[in-house]
Amino acid sequence: MKRLLSGIKPSGDLNIGGYGGALRQYVNLQHDYEAYFFVPDFHAVTVYQDPRKLHQRTRDIAALYIASGIDPRKATIFLQSQVPAHAELGWLLETQAHFGELKRMTQFKEKSDGKDTVSSALFTYPVLMAADVLLYQATHVPVGDDQKQHLELTRDVAERFNNRFGSTFIIPEPIIQDIGSRVMGLDDPSKKMSKSNPNKNSCVHMMDSPEDIRRKFSKAVTDSEGEVRHDWEQKPAVSNLIEIYSVFSEEDISVIEKRYDGQGYGTFKKELAEVVIEKLLPIQEKFHQIVDSSELDRILIDGAQRAAQTASGTLLAAKKAMGFVTF
Ligand code: ATP
Ligand code: MG
Repeated sequence: MKRLLSGIKPSGDLNIGGYGGALRQYVNLQHDYEAYFFVPDFHAVTVYQDPRKLHQRTRDIAALYIASGIDPRKATIFLQSQVPAHAELGWLLETQAHFGELKRMTQFKEKSDGKDTVSSALFTYPVLMAADVLLYQATHVPVGDDQKQHLELTRDVAERFNNRFGSTFIIPEPIIQDIGSRVMGLDDPSKKMSKSNPNKNSCVHMMDSPEDIRRKFSKAVTDSEGEVRHDWEQKPAVSNLIEIYSVFSEEDISVIEKRYDGQGYGTFKKELAEVVIEKLLPIQEKFHQIVDSSELDRILIDGAQRAAQTASGTLLAAKKAMGFVTF
């Protein structure tokens, strides 16, 4: 059975980058895999989170999963902090990960920005991610391009463990889409669209109003050429907008290029905003229905129980393999 696990951190308001690289895939993949979608709240606190905001955002992400079309009867939806095995296996795997390989993680370099005062959890976060994936014996992990290196580390740690202690973990494969796996900032196409980017105009949030979405796209940087053409090398800003269009309209890039052939960026950006709004409105509506409901509580309680059952089997096997006394 093919199994997958993936999640989105409650570290900020989800934007269309996470939708393009992750959430959209989740909805499509749930039919072909035994799927686990979790909210990695332990990962979010690797940088400071206001407790009240963390609480709300955790519910928000879970509600967004469901509002976007993940079916809780098909997939298991749960909160990482509700399944203690994550932290426990995370610790065990820290004994297998190397200081040097963690130092090479580009995301750590970016997020720590040379500062010594970042939390040590930010440094070891990829190992906890390895534990998340390996606990469920996931064969596949759908991620955006920025998580490729972390998944590579997961594979290395799993292989090291298996070689040392006997075959325990399945070695997972990433699933990275061609289009939408790297949505860039609207203000700067060299930076990824990210929840933690403080520039409000750099990203469109999943909960943005139609007016905000129209304004943000109308302000998005382009280039001086005036041609709607997909070419990451020469035209990164416009290519990014075309990819966003493609993610939300589910049309091929070539169809979009043809539609706007000979037209300036003005019409293209206006219609892009409408395409995004049309997709987001029903998601927003469903989100508001579910986010504060007891139905969401029930889904998360049930999900955590199911997840814990799978996770505890793997954790026990790992502990036995390492020589811990188990009963
Ligand atoms: P943070 O800035 O706190 O790291 P984030 O926006 O990067 O937040 P994550 O929760 O780290 O969001 O990532 C969730 C998933 O969304 C991951 O699979 C990640 O690869 C994907 N993702 C995040 N940003 C983008 C993006 N700009 N384009 C495509 N995929 C993305
Ligand atoms: Mg991230």
